[in-house]
Amino acid sequence: MKYTKLYNETTNLCSCGKCGKEIELKATECSYCRANFLSNSLEFSSETPLPIRVLKIFAYIDLIVGIIAGLFTIKENGILGLAFILQGILICSLFLVIALIAENIIEIRKNTTQKK
Ligand SMILES: [Zn+2]
Repeated sequence: MKYTKLYNETTNLCSCGKCGKEIELKATECSYCRANFLSNSLEFSSETPLPIRVLKIFAYIDLIVGIIAGLFTIKENGILGLAFILQGILICSLFLVIALIAENIIEIRKNTTQKK
């Protein structure tokens, strides 16, 4: 049975596709579980990079905080309350779109990078 190696771009490390332990980039066999690797089986890890995850989290935080701030303010100042809610929705969707674009660029780069 042949296994694939997983390559993580963020850490620049390779891991075994069977046991998940860290291995050398050019290893043909896992030194832990003795799994054999296909010669050109390098696969990129599908983990979302941290900056994109942080961006998404803050997008949702901004949405929630914006709506809460808007609901608190809307009774005293209708326009200001509405502005808070609208900025929450707008910033959230804007950041989510940016995160989506970044994820797509990563996917495109993976598909166009030659596997060695
Ligand atoms: Zn292994």
